[in-house]
Amino acid sequence: MSIQKNLLEIQSKLSEDVVLIAVSKTKPISALEEAYRAGQRVFGENKVQEMVEKWQALPKDIHWHMIGHVQRNKIKYMAEFVELIHGVDSIKTLKEINKQALKHNRKISVLLQVKIAREESKFGIPLEELEDFMSNVKTMELNNVNFQGFMGMASNDPSQDIVREEFSILKQLYDQYRKEFTTFEYLSMGMSGDYLLALDQGSNMIRVGSAIFGLRNYSI
Ligand SMILES: *Cc1c(COP(=O)(O)O)cnc(C)c1O
Repeated sequence: MSIQKNLLEIQSKLSEDVVLIAVSKTKPISALEEAYRAGQRVFGENKVQEMVEKWQALPKDIHWHMIGHVQRNKIKYMAEFVELIHGVDSIKTLKEINKQALKHNRKISVLLQVKIAREESKFGIPLEELEDFMSNVKTMELNNVNFQGFMGMASNDPSQDIVREEFSILKQLYDQYRKEFTTFEYLSMGMSGDYLLALDQGSNMIRVGSAIFGLRNYSI
């Protein structure tokens, strides 16, 4: 299957209000160009340096999303152009994003990552800390940060029931906080293996890599 066919196939399953992020991490420029020629304009990367290199090499009407967990000292390299940072789960990171956005005289949009998976290794704000985190955020003057919603990753579990339950928890929280945070607009959940389940549970932003570009090879 070609990248173009994969994109068309996935797009055909999405309603108009769903944003499809083509997750292009580890993939060569040529693969992104093929997706671009097929009309794709939103790309997701999880390493700042790789994203900067691709941003420099590719057309400027591409929207770049940082979907990985961000290291604070790397934020400055993408502050000029990044469209949305998904993996934010600490106040310190938010402060740094605010500072770098201010330097570039812009607002940077973020999604707060909430830990919905049971697995230990995943990042995100633990569910039991979310309330405190959100009230903390409200008291701070982060005028150059635009809070656009939540992002979550479900367990890598073959049980659809567990994955569905995790997505549903995040959707409920999203609806709850959207009442207070009026800039909330996106609920980013769903990847190649579980995006249909995520859409069922109310996701409106999916991050799809291997189903578009093929499997990643980390050994090269
Ligand atoms: C790599 C990655 C994806 C895409 O994964 P696929 O299974 O290839 O679709 C989505 N979200 C995050 C945060 C990722 O790091």
